[in-house]
Amino acid sequence: MDRVFIKDFPLDALETWVQGIGERPFRARQIFRHLYNRLIRSWDECSDLSKAFRTQLEYGTRLDAVETAATEDATDGTRKFVFRLHDGKLIESVLIPDPPRLTACVSSQVGCALGCRFCLTGTMGLQRNLSTAEIVDQLVHMQQAVGAERRITNIVFMGMGEPLANEEALLRALRILLDPTGFGFSHRRITVSTVGLVPQMVRLGRESPVNLAVSLHAADDETRNRLMPINRKYPLATLMDACRAYPMPSRKRITFEYILLKDVNDRPEDARRLVRLLSSVRSKVNLIPFNPHPDLPFERPSEERVLAFQDILHQAHLTATIRQSRGADIRAACGQLAARMVSS
Ligand code: SAH
Ligand code: SF4
Repeated sequence: MDRVFIKDFPLDALETWVQGIGERPFRARQIFRHLYNRLIRSWDECSDLSKAFRTQLEYGTRLDAVETAATEDATDGTRKFVFRLHDGKLIESVLIPDPPRLTACVSSQVGCALGCRFCLTGTMGLQRNLSTAEIVDQLVHMQQAVGAERRITNIVFMGMGEPLANEEALLRALRILLDPTGFGFSHRRITVSTVGLVPQMVRLGRESPVNLAVSLHAADDETRNRLMPINRKYPLATLMDACRAYPMPSRKRITFEYILLKDVNDRPEDARRLVRLLSSVRSKVNLIPFNPHPDLPFERPSEERVLAFQDILHQAHLTATIRQSRGADIRAACGQLAARMVSS
């Protein structure tokens, strides 16, 4: 019999599973606490479970869905993790210290099918979706690596892949991460970033209270079509309708990510168009100066250009922050994640 990945199960599914092997449902809570509070590395650490049950867990399940293949530390404290999956494929995740926060940037797919022109992950194509266990285990392993004194405070789904193209596994992972019996993250501290897959956005809004970030990158269809093939399927009007309809408690806003590409979308008229586009949505803007790479055909705008763009948004009373590039010296910055497919 194939062993199950224990981290695939939200609490209710785990209850069903433990009952299936003849245990009482409350055992699921104990297991959940061991997995996501105590961050056990072996079933031997669970002394409140009988020896017989531990043996069943040992032989019937897989505790790890990823293993750490390498870590790399940037000069600014950012740490990149390369994780190996059971089929040998590699993904990357990043831990970004920004006291008092410690943000984990996690992957949702191996590669990505959506082919945005400015993104290194996009150049890989899609290899496969991650399972729920593979998503959750990135966080377990990163938290184990930093130790109990420093808790991960925030999670962003901005690593490799398009989370809403892997929605089933994502929604299950979110339920595990939000469950107070386990990690117990607040929905205010988890952000899912999407290129704007409209039907999946609607479902996410219905089923999960986490924050939404939309990768916009252009405020007109012509430019967005050129940068992001998905815009032909869900053009701006459709996307913005979905954003306006997005269910949000009163204090929440949608974050719109906007990569600034020199002479492509960074002119004052682009900023003004962005202001008009966002005028009817509860929004904030995150400006991301492009992180260049030899394989990508764009340049980063000058600092003055970035500040002038931000200024136009500020004058229109839009909240607009500039994302500081972190971990650039180890290729951990936004859009630079593309695990080299070396097997070892
Ligand atoms: N697929 C999702 C989430 C992963 S991409 C999405 O696109 O939203 C995470 C962020 O990195 C996105 O905002 C993306 O636009 C940004 N990004 C990609 N390539 C980049 C680059 N070369 N420089 C800066 N940011 C980049
Ligand atoms: Fe995929 Fe996001 Fe990269 Fe676009 S920016 S190719 S959606 S990972």
